[in-house]
Amino acid sequence: MKLNPGMSALVTGGGSGIGKGLCIALSQKGLFVTIVDFSEDNGGEVASLVLKESKQFHGDSRVPSALFIKCDVTNADDLAAAFRKHVHTYGGLDVCINCAGFVNKSLFSDDTSNGTSTWRRAVNVNLVAVIDCTRIATQIMRSQKKPGAIINIGSVAGLYPMHYEPIYSGSKGGVVMFTRSLAPLKRHGIRVNVICPEFVQTNMGEQVNHLLVDALGGFLKMEDVVNGAFELIEDETKAGACLWISKRRGMVYWPTSEEENKYLVYSSKPKRALTKNRFPSIQTPEFFEKIVVHTLSHNFRNATKLDRVRLRLPLEPHCALVKIIYAGVNASDVNFTSGRYFSGNAKEASAYLPFDAGFEAVGIVASVGDSVRHIKVGAAVALMTFGGYAEFMLVPAKHLLPVPRPDPEVVAMLTSGLTASISLEKSGQMTSGQVVLVTAAAGGTGQFAVQLAKLAGNKVVATCGGASKAALLASLGVDRVINYQHEKIKDVLKKEFPRGADIIYESVGGEMFDLCLNALGVHGRLIVIGMISQYQGEDGWKPQNYKGLCEKILGKSQTVAGFFLIQYADLWQEHLDKLFNLHTSGKLKVSLDPKKFLGVASVPDAVEYLHSGRSVGKVVVCVDPAYSQTLARL
Ligand code: NAP
Repeated sequence: MKLNPGMSALVTGGGSGIGKGLCIALSQKGLFVTIVDFSEDNGGEVASLVLKESKQFHGDSRVPSALFIKCDVTNADDLAAAFRKHVHTYGGLDVCINCAGFVNKSLFSDDTSNGTSTWRRAVNVNLVAVIDCTRIATQIMRSQKKPGAIINIGSVAGLYPMHYEPIYSGSKGGVVMFTRSLAPLKRHGIRVNVICPEFVQTNMGEQVNHLLVDALGGFLKMEDVVNGAFELIEDETKAGACLWISKRRGMVYWPTSEEENKYLVYSSKPKRALTKNRFPSIQTPEFFEKIVVHTLSHNFRNATKLDRVRLRLPLEPHCALVKIIYAGVNASDVNFTSGRYFSGNAKEASAYLPFDAGFEAVGIVASVGDSVRHIKVGAAVALMTFGGYAEFMLVPAKHLLPVPRPDPEVVAMLTSGLTASISLEKSGQMTSGQVVLVTAAAGGTGQFAVQLAKLAGNKVVATCGGASKAALLASLGVDRVINYQHEKIKDVLKKEFPRGADIIYESVGGEMFDLCLNALGVHGRLIVIGMISQYQGEDGWKPQNYKGLCEKILGKSQTVAGFFLIQYADLWQEHLDKLFNLHTSGKLKVSLDPKKFLGVASVPDAVEYLHSGRSVGKVVVCVDPAYSQTLARL
């Protein structure tokens, strides 16, 4: 959600500290701001500061650009009235920041008051009121049918225990888990996120033991918190996100996806609905069309032809017939047609001719053999067996991966998504707080690599060629986009990342590989994903000489790790489920190239388009346009 002048925000605890900093920052973006605070003096002072800051935006406006409402957030009636007044004044609510907080100074274990003590008030201010404000703001945002962002201000005390402040820690921990549980509200256009800053030099921050603050690297700046809040408000992928801001590690999303994987349950079993016949029934044809490789060549068009073949029936008992709806296009399609997947030796590879092309597809099960029990006719499935460039595929049913819908986004998650997800974990051993460099980052697989690295809490640097690609990468949250059409990758890396990258996801090869190797830091890991720049040379792909490779990696204890997805088939379903989950919870975007390729006959055009370097996101062929429209209406 882009913050624009004329939008409105309500900030509880806006009279001082972080709340005050956020009120002023919002007013500098031209937002109308309501300051809800207990203290009349503080609230009034912030209101006048906001009025001053926002004069340039609302000089002539009849509504005041700042509203101060005196309110104890633990009083539910007063709180509801404050929100009502805001909506009445500004006609709606775009941003709600729940910042009011309270530190319980008395020793909780000494309390004998049975309920009247300050610890109960701390829980009411820090947690109960945050729940209440989130509830009211959500109701307003849903009723206005417009997107809205809610930011709850947590604390590091909500991420790790503070032994001398158990009530503060407990209540902030509650805020963190409450917020993270609200990710599904994104379905209604409402994104609730939480920020957990370490200590900021406010009145509250000053009360913290200075030895602890020093041990954590000193106080954070107010602008660190403001930047974090604005990132959560503006980044549409963030819902239920918890942003930990520290001096030592900067901004880190917590938990990292690695931690999250330890507790999240991804169902690998087909859900009941998936195995039912949910989709329109399919007529099995007598003939169907597919792309067949007849000559070994890295020139896809010359190597293939469109064949019309008779469907072999009856089905073998263990097989399934799948109607293909979408097929995915991959850089390596040209390596497949050149026989490289079968053998390095042309003579041996030619023994496989003719063979079917295409690595991946999604479709609907049209019929199953007698012994197939786990999948039903009508189920949506994904396939990663060779031969996806076809109207129908006959495959052993054990190779079918159940999916919720046969959508193009799902195709993108197959070869492209899985390569990024598995390789970063296995070959890259990715954790958080690292610098991750991704090449060809706006492509099919690059887009997944940058997002997964970001979700894990890393600083992501991405290379691409072109303004629309750079815009996509910026929208995916990449920290530094290098559009090599405008700046030299080498110079940027040298200047801005002198310590080098910790992980490099490299898929271009040739000169780019050399450049990346030189940009790898001590202990760095360079994952060789591919070398697209080499695939279509004059005489096909020729092995390169990488002079001095051993000396370089020895000198910096580096690793150059190859990755080939086919060798990780045992992890496909687990990682596919993880990608679905991230996508459906709004944390992972899937970008499809807008150019339409319709029908199997369009496959050579689509492959050439990918190799033209112009594609942005995943290139997909819609094999049956009529069917895809029927599905879209379901
Ligand atoms: P992609 O990234 O969508 O490919 C298109 C992008 O590659 C282009 O937009 C361009 O990006 C870059 N490019 C294209 N032709 C190029 C050339 N001649 N020289 C330099 N850059 C060129 O394709 P993809 O299917 O996702 O594959 C990307 C890479 O990952 C390939 O190397 C592929 O083989 C590899 N891959 C490997 C595995 C595995 O298991 N190891 C699995 C999947 C993919 P910019 O100009 O913006 O850089």
